[in-house]
Amino acid sequence: MTIMKNTLNIIGGGMAGSEAAWQAANAGLRVVIHEMRPKVETFAHRTGNLGEMVCSNSFRSDDHEQNAVGLLHWEMRQANGLIMQTAEKHRLPAGGALAVDRDPFAESVTAALKSHPNISISYDEITNLPTDGNWIIATGPLTSGSLAKAIQAETSAEALAFFDAIAPIVYHESINMDVAWMQSRYDKGETEEERTAYLNCPMNKDQYEAFIDALLAAEKTEFKEGETAGYFDGCLPIEVMAERGRETLRFGPMKPVGLTNANDPENKPYAVVQLRRDNALGTLYNIVGFQTKMKYGAQKAVFKTIPALENAEFARLGGIHRNTFINSPTLLDEQMRLRSRPNIRFAGQITGVEGYVESAAMGLLAGRLAVAELTGKTLPAVPNTTAMGALVTHITGGAEAKTFQPMNVNFGLFPALEGAKNGRRNRKDRYKGYTDRAKLDWQAWLAQTV
Ligand SMILES: Cc1cc2nc3c(=O)[nH]c(=O)nc-3n(C[C@H](O)[C@H](O)[C@H](O)COP(=O)(O)OP(=O)(O)OC[C@H]3O[C@@H](n4cnc5c(N)ncnc54)[C@H](O)[C@@H]3O)c2cc1C
Repeated sequence: MTIMKNTLNIIGGGMAGSEAAWQAANAGLRVVIHEMRPKVETFAHRTGNLGEMVCSNSFRSDDHEQNAVGLLHWEMRQANGLIMQTAEKHRLPAGGALAVDRDPFAESVTAALKSHPNISISYDEITNLPTDGNWIIATGPLTSGSLAKAIQAETSAEALAFFDAIAPIVYHESINMDVAWMQSRYDKGETEEERTAYLNCPMNKDQYEAFIDALLAAEKTEFKEGETAGYFDGCLPIEVMAERGRETLRFGPMKPVGLTNANDPENKPYAVVQLRRDNALGTLYNIVGFQTKMKYGAQKAVFKTIPALENAEFARLGGIHRNTFINSPTLLDEQMRLRSRPNIRFAGQITGVEGYVESAAMGLLAGRLAVAELTGKTLPAVPNTTAMGALVTHITGGAEAKTFQPMNVNFGLFPALEGAKNGRRNRKDRYKGYTDRAKLDWQAWLAQTV
């Protein structure tokens, strides 16, 4: 392979690699995306598309005033982000969340990159660390084995592998709508479609207790000793939540608050299982928050005890997956470059951020930082008062290196507001203060990058 000195090479065309390529190509760089699919597959991807969503079809909250993920959406939109603008085109009703029709979404991302005059796509697996040229490694949680080994050899730090789990998807036609009803929690949403975006299955106390018993007794995929210690807390399998306490699910994904059973308004459900639309046609629904490592047979048996799902047909059952990420606080500089080989940047989930949005955001940033470097500009650090800056500051130094674990964006990563009082009563004002400040600072930073 001939490496052009003025070309940016990106390994991996997922959320991060696609966004990085878009940003760099729009700034005038020549970009080559190296994507191993469809030649080499992963167990979670189904297509050869760039920007494929491997599990949930949601980019989570779109609230840019009160939510840190929503703020990250806003910041990416301001920066002409490909992932956000494509998500907008394929948006599905989801009661305040930004959910999309996954296949048309990934097809659009692929088409936009393929037709860009500055981008070419090479469908190959990169198995070694590149020695020259300018590179971004954005190979994600399922980085291929040989490249992972090469990274390990270079960093001599252990690439950490751990498991979380994917939620099952049910065919809508197999759900008993005499028992279930459509409603978003607290009727949240601007339109009737948004206010009825979720499909709810009610449980009384006996049904809930029986469900917990079934979960606890179900046959699970066994973990090797120590593996579960690496769980990412936001993505715990439901049976692990149930093991932590019989009430945990009732205060988590099965909480009954903000919902009234349209089929039986007088009876307050003791717990509620929520499903959310998974495609534009409305034929598929995923069970929200029901990641699991139960064996397939056990999953079917347990989920069919949920009222309205007694005849459920599953388009996909839950599963476990691996996550590869590097110890960014020790390995990367504040420009996301590998300290030992500064011609290589890392971006996306492999840097230790968690989720589609955070990964795309780190791709956006890595792309822009590469552009600045290759065009001889010096950019100031991204202010840590922005969602983008808070995240990158965390992974490249803010986090404790010894106990470094994947991180979602959250207001806990932001510096305190001057003169703001802490405490629950002022939370709404505080969050608004964070997001107002972030927006100003992000716009000021962006203005310096052009
Ligand atoms: C099973 C599973 C379920 C998940 N569920 C969710 C979820 O519900 N919500 C959520 O927000 N996040 C979820 N995640 C995390 C999600 O995958 C990431 O947050 C996001 O996709 C990461 O973006 P990325 O660009 O870093 O990696 P990816 O989107 O995975 O992209 C990496 C790309 O690199 C390619 N690649 C890998 N190795 C090589 C190589 N050696 N050479 C060339 N190409 C290579 C891969 O084929 C892939 O296309 C899940 C992850 C997994 C594995």
